[in-house]
Amino acid sequence: MMKLQALTVFVVIAHAHALKGEHAGPFGKHANIARQQSAALGYDPNSIPPLTAITSGMATGTTYAPTATFSPGSKPTAFSNAPQIPTFTVNPTDWPAMDKPPPTDTPQVQAWMLELEGHNIPDIPPTVDGTCGGDPTAAAAAEQNGWWTCGGWTRDTDIIDCPDKMTWGVSFDDGPAPYTQKLLNYMNSKDITATFFVVGSRALQYPDLLIEEYMAGHEISVHTWAHPPLTSRSTAQIVAELGWTRLIIQKILGITPTTMRSPYGDLDDRVRAIALAMGMIPIQWTRAPSGLTFDTNDWRVAGGTVIGTDQMAIFDSILSNATVMDNGFIVLQHDLFEITVDLAIGYTLPAATNHQPPFQLQRIGQCNNIPMSNMYVETNTNTTFPGAGATNATSPLPTAGHGPGLSNTTVSITNTSSANGSSGATATNENVPTGDATTFSLPVLGAVVAAGFAAFATMF
Ligand SMILES: [Zn+2]
Repeated sequence: MMKLQALTVFVVIAHAHALKGEHAGPFGKHANIARQQSAALGYDPNSIPPLTAITSGMATGTTYAPTATFSPGSKPTAFSNAPQIPTFTVNPTDWPAMDKPPPTDTPQVQAWMLELEGHNIPDIPPTVDGTCGGDPTAAAAAEQNGWWTCGGWTRDTDIIDCPDKMTWGVSFDDGPAPYTQKLLNYMNSKDITATFFVVGSRALQYPDLLIEEYMAGHEISVHTWAHPPLTSRSTAQIVAELGWTRLIIQKILGITPTTMRSPYGDLDDRVRAIALAMGMIPIQWTRAPSGLTFDTNDWRVAGGTVIGTDQMAIFDSILSNATVMDNGFIVLQHDLFEITVDLAIGYTLPAATNHQPPFQLQRIGQCNNIPMSNMYVETNTNTTFPGAGATNATSPLPTAGHGPGLSNTTVSITNTSSANGSSGATATNENVPTGDATTFSLPVLGAVVAAGFAAFATMF
């Protein structure tokens, strides 16, 4: 036993050394070894730049194709009752426009609105833009309304940490994207699994990568379709964001997530109630007693506001909270950009295993002792999870274009506001997400890259 442990330590150190070695300079005579190592790992550890060089505008590196094309009928082995991957072809014309708020006057959204029936959706007006500064009135009522953005308010129904001390819940948001496969290959080589918060528009764009995530044993959760701050949206718009994302995941994978995460962590009692009514439990990232959140700030590097070294310094200080906490924590990272993926592979995730004592890297459901089968409606066996939305677990999702109409039904939600954040002084085009969400389209990304990622400064 001792021998095995010693060997494990040696392998870890050897790998860490290999990573550091290439940062120190060109590989030279070690090139062949490096190539062999790359082939075995499924990614090139030498492609991770030194921390000082990970910065907005850095040269782009290799993207990796999905390792396998999983044919319809495949099942992940991570949980025993997983359904087969369905036969499904993603046809963009069947779906809302990428990275635009889905319209609310469609049969699908109207059908999903029925899921709110019988649930108490608090009559909280949409915030101006999902920020405290943008809406002082909402900020003043943040505690009352359970608004996480201004003060970190949570409710018992939220998943906000990992219960066990020294346990690190791994999450990646905003993908799948071109560098996701590199991250998957790395995590496979290290036997790490994570929770992916999927943007519906990216699933539409990269369905094969979504399948790869799922088949590799990672957890799949709902983010949104167009990544707006949800508190700034009308109830119907929130339903549309969550509904379309949930549906495309279900069409591609055959499973419907029972969890979700708000973009920017922007969650209040209205958004919370809508998500729960739709059968999705909100998952935040952890806020330490100091007020710091376990945000790796990788998005700031991609946004060009900090460089890699500063990002790790910030994160190290955040991580120092962990050893004085009685519980574990959930960490926010992103798989949308090469920069954020390189930071994860080269630095952030290794920081967990290099720490003394090491942190245990786990999926968020896993660290909360939620069986993977309960992370999805189709396989969930816990009738009290996800709480108030459990009744929806037995309701089939509307099929695109075939949802029931609203003509004979009254939706008894209390919030009838149609405001969506565009009614205030900062009124903007309703068809464009607020803030930086408009930059989420990867085709648009090229222009953003050229602009030095400046527009991503507030993205997370
Ligand atoms: Zn996000």
